[in-house]
Amino acid sequence: MGTVLIIGAGGVGSVVTHKCAQAPAVFPNVWLASRTIAKCEAIRASVRAKTRRAINIARVDADNVPELVRLIRRVKPRVVINVALPYQDLTIMDACLATGVDYLDTANYEPPDEAKFCYKWQWAYRRRFKDAGLTALLGCGFDPGVTNIFTAYARKHHFDAISHLDIVDANAGSHGHAFATNFNPEINIREITQRGKYYENGRWVVVPPLSRHCTFDFPGGIGPKEIYLLYHEELESLAKNIKGARRMRFWMTFSENYLTHLRVLQNVGMTRIDPVVFQGREIVPIQFLKALLPDPASLAKNYTGKTCIGCVIHGTKKGKARNCFIYNICDHAQCYKEVNAQAISYTTGVPAMIGAMLMAKGVWKQPGVFNTEEFDPDPFMAALNTHGLPWKETFPRKGFEGFVEQRS
Ligand code: NDP
Repeated sequence: MGTVLIIGAGGVGSVVTHKCAQAPAVFPNVWLASRTIAKCEAIRASVRAKTRRAINIARVDADNVPELVRLIRRVKPRVVINVALPYQDLTIMDACLATGVDYLDTANYEPPDEAKFCYKWQWAYRRRFKDAGLTALLGCGFDPGVTNIFTAYARKHHFDAISHLDIVDANAGSHGHAFATNFNPEINIREITQRGKYYENGRWVVVPPLSRHCTFDFPGGIGPKEIYLLYHEELESLAKNIKGARRMRFWMTFSENYLTHLRVLQNVGMTRIDPVVFQGREIVPIQFLKALLPDPASLAKNYTGKTCIGCVIHGTKKGKARNCFIYNICDHAQCYKEVNAQAISYTTGVPAMIGAMLMAKGVWKQPGVFNTEEFDPDPFMAALNTHGLPWKETFPRKGFEGFVEQRS
């Protein structure tokens, strides 16, 4: 149905490229472009070995709009999938507008010099995409992305009104390194070290970083894990689009070992995002740290264990209180077998491919800028089951608190 152009040859970009290559009827031509051509070459070799398909590659600096425009005019894609970094969101959206192409990403824009991610910069493009008759689909990874779709699906099928949403994200895997992040270290550490924030009774409540935690009993053999309240970007759009909810929170697991390393790195200044002078030149400590840490894609080979990401929802149906838990379990080793990736990259890359597929088929096609919960969830939920991320739903007697082990 068209050519797809994927920008960003990282861990997520590799999964998106493999999954697009697995769908030749939808994407007869697959292009991958990134700043470092060697990374594109390695992914091209892996795709050839796994799928026997030849993909096209190109070098691009996605901070440079004229360069992007030249590439898009040459490739003529039906849709551009942006899986570079959040810093490139606006330049790639500008290039899509200049060339008349639909746009999709998995993380919202944040300015490089300020750890502040929010949708205001990208939502400001609504009028321009609408006037151009183009679709921009924002945050189409797992969280954000699938978590928004799980919520929209629950609202459509299981609830008349949703009052409480708790998104829970567990990585119960083991990669064998003392400390590593599962996606881009700079973006990941900026996110975790921010203050926690959640939505309650129409306002945002801010708490110190990682200060709220409890034990959540995860399904799929994972069991009880400590989860920490974080601010996560899907809360911003869900608070707008799921009307009437009283409380929305996001929780993620961290091991004691991970938190100890993070605390030390913070204490010695290694997570700073402002430049410091080192041997006569400016360096940004968190970027130097990124250069020292394992590349998240390289963790895949020896990763074992599972992830579980889901939505615990409480609300009412026909006047009666009801709970629902919708979740996916993903196995690191199985992801490696299929596409040479770990589960964090896989759970992000598969939804990006599905979103682009629905856009290319015209199923999710509307002029403007949208978050995933604004489209019909049903075709996406069906595609998750057939493209590697099957989901389950349960209707427990108790809501979030029922999964939580209370401490005295
Ligand atoms: P990586 O750092 O592994 O990959 C990013 C890639 O983008 C690198 O290959 C990098 O190239 C390339 N890149 C960076 N800057 C530019 C540029 N200016 N021009 C061209 N290419 C560039 O990150 P991940 O794959 O782990 O993450 C990709 C995205 O996915 C991030 O935005 C992340 O926030 C998002 N994400 C979303 C999740 C979700 O569930 N919604 C979960 C996990 C991640 P080079 O190596 O040459 O610098």
